[in-house]
Amino acid sequence: VVRDAIQSSMYRKSYGDVQALAGLDLRVSRGAICGLLGKNGAGKTTTIKVLLGMVRPTSGAARVFGLAADDERASVEIRGRTAFVSEDKDLYGGMTVDELIRFVAPFYPKWRADLASGYLAQLELRADARIDDLSRGMRTKLALLIALSTGAELLILDEPTSGLDPVATEQVLKILVKQAGRDGTTVLFSSHQLADVEQIADHIAIVDRGRIVVDGVLDDVRSRHKRIQLVFDGDAPDAAFKSRGVVATQKQGRVLSVLSSAGEEGIVAEARALRPRTVDVLPVTLKEIFLETVGVEN
Ligand code: ATP
Repeated sequence: VVRDAIQSSMYRKSYGDVQALAGLDLRVSRGAICGLLGKNGAGKTTTIKVLLGMVRPTSGAARVFGLAADDERASVEIRGRTAFVSEDKDLYGGMTVDELIRFVAPFYPKWRADLASGYLAQLELRADARIDDLSRGMRTKLALLIALSTGAELLILDEPTSGLDPVATEQVLKILVKQAGRDGTTVLFSSHQLADVEQIADHIAIVDRGRIVVDGVLDDVRSRHKRIQLVFDGDAPDAAFKSRGVVATQKQGRVLSVLSSAGEEGIVAEARALRPRTVDVLPVTLKEIFLETVGVEN
């Protein structure tokens, strides 16, 4: 039995001179909901395309359900067991919502007509509406409805909530969590909405310049990251911390703040030697972890 739904190691992909993936190691265990985060151009979509056999590696290997993603025959099986919603939420036009659902259903041996009709009502989509007339958000809902009804073991969703209003976003997130919990479906989704990720992901992976820079169980990632804040009587000194885990150091007036990815102990000891007035260890949000790990250009 293969425990990981997805496993890629040292995966590299270049488009000409552009290195989209620079040695990507990603692991998603079965049944996990994994949020894939990263700035624009970080390599999220390329990662997804690799897993679906739409992009071939320059080097490295990626496996889905233990099958090699770059092997053509294996890739057919992978795609048969996976539902994918692309960034553009592309759908066949020229049909109504109901016609499209009836058209795609026979392609999926495990199609769940019960889920499709349930989600249709829940997401307030009109069965007789023409696809070409749907708004962007409605198209997204329909693309997700279809993916969720295929009976797939793995859902790969590229920015599933982009363009959805807050109500629809909430509905979609709830549906994803419920379905994953009930059917053991693995979900890999990319998102720029950190709140969405915090709400439903149990695992996260942050991609930066084609590499995974942070990954793991969301609660573990949050608990091993700490902000160590030093307040001085006068201006904070310039300090370079040598302890393991320093992600970023910021100085502002009397305050020196260090983000650590490996707890606080070493840094607190170093901090005390600088004789600040106070040293505090503070929890950090996913947003802070994200911004400081991928680096905000000042
Ligand atoms: P976004 O958040 O903007 O969707 P992303 O993280 O999904 O970004 P990718 O689409 O994977 O990023 O792109 C990674 C890098 O690879 C970028 O520098 C991009 O310009 C480049 N790239 C992607 N596809 C191609 C292509 N077909 N040809 C050339 N370069 C490409």
